[in-house]
Amino acid sequence: MENLNFDTIMEELKRTLKPYDEKQYKKIPSKGLNENQILEDLSKFSERENETWKKGHVSGAVYYGENDLLQFFEKLYHLYSQTNALHPDIWPSISKFEREIVAMSSSLMHGDENVRGAVSSGGTESILLAMKTYRDYFRSKKDIVNPEIILPETAHPAFLKACEYFSIKPVFASLDNDYKVDIEDVKKKINENTIGLVGSAPNFPFGTFDPIKELSELAYDKNIGMHVDACLGGFIDPFAKELGFKIPDFDFSLEGVTSISMDTHKYGYAPKGTSVILYRNSEFFQKQIFARASGREGIYFTPTLLGSRPGFPIVAAWSVMLLMGYEGYKERAKSILETGKFIKENVRKIDGLKTVGDPLWVIAITSDNYDPYLIWEGMGKKGWFLSGLSNPASFHIALTVRHTLPNVKESFIQDLKDSLEMVKNKEIKSSTMAPIYGMSSTISKEMADFYLANIVEWLYSI
Ligand SMILES: *Cc1c(COP(=O)(O)O)cnc(C)c1O
Repeated sequence: MENLNFDTIMEELKRTLKPYDEKQYKKIPSKGLNENQILEDLSKFSERENETWKKGHVSGAVYYGENDLLQFFEKLYHLYSQTNALHPDIWPSISKFEREIVAMSSSLMHGDENVRGAVSSGGTESILLAMKTYRDYFRSKKDIVNPEIILPETAHPAFLKACEYFSIKPVFASLDNDYKVDIEDVKKKINENTIGLVGSAPNFPFGTFDPIKELSELAYDKNIGMHVDACLGGFIDPFAKELGFKIPDFDFSLEGVTSISMDTHKYGYAPKGTSVILYRNSEFFQKQIFARASGREGIYFTPTLLGSRPGFPIVAAWSVMLLMGYEGYKERAKSILETGKFIKENVRKIDGLKTVGDPLWVIAITSDNYDPYLIWEGMGKKGWFLSGLSNPASFHIALTVRHTLPNVKESFIQDLKDSLEMVKNKEIKSSTMAPIYGMSSTISKEMADFYLANIVEWLYSI
């Protein structure tokens, strides 16, 4: 791995992350601007920023993005922009939408009438809530005061964040050769402090599915929690199964599964700001609720982390479910999965490239012969925003409706071939971002985290 050159890295970061900083407001303007002055700048920004995802050159991020849907959301915003889910007495319709989003999501997960849940602000919040719930549930049930949770190495960082926030000890379980969690290693790591197991359906980096059935049997046996992270898969998996794609069992039909997170703002095609957290029964859900009737503020309760909660994302998530319908979701899932099949098969035909594991629609690409980060750099030069991954060094594309549009998958494969050629011909010899990804192999994990935190601080400095 090449040496770290922080000046080059910072220059590149400045170019990509702070491109508009010649003109900055560091104080509220003393006299208000007129609408047009504001809209003029915004139009320039959005024109530049929306082009890339619209043509399908971005991994994940925008999962649908067709104009008819965006215009529908504008109509909803007009009706619901001022709503706050904190006040179900003022806006009982928001509360109704939330219940029905939970019910409709639960029905996709084979939940019965005992399932309870809520709409959170995103996958991370759903995961934070589940972890906090298990901590409190098993403190009261089993008197566990030093809780531990067992995480596949591919678990989303939100689980670690939950561990930091809620003082839970994360225990990592290794992966097998197919990039699924090694069930034997999970078994070995369960002890009297274990409050729960986690499995992804699928995980973010490689799009592979953990053995949810085996994990759920273990959890059931040991009488501990079992969270299925279906943030990415919740609105694809049920349809994929029906369409005959190879998907393991993953939902409440497995007796040991006690909670599921699924993101309406990903393949539910809602605008950003919603995810669903579901529990097998109300006993778990009760541990998520904060309720205080005895304070000076009068009656106060919140089912999720937030206090005031915008109602617009909730009405949008509800409306898009009705608009799509079961068949609509299934149709989109089919095109995405077929696009995934095309990309997987064509990547495997390229001499020198291979996929990580056996993916469906999140496709991680690596190489035994060439530096995968240089190929990734080549794709970047061709205008693709793909996600870099480590261990193994690779990069992925999470396919969305954007990639099912004409010619996108073909141009992805062509650009991949061209990037590989450029690397072979030594036209790409170094990469600006690769050293950051390689950091944890040249310096300690702690130092790498520390450098990254400093970069984040820089991002927030004016
Ligand atoms: C996206 C994702 C999350 C987190 O969701 P956010 O909405 O980004 O907070 C968690 N797990 C998986 C597998 C994901 O893909």
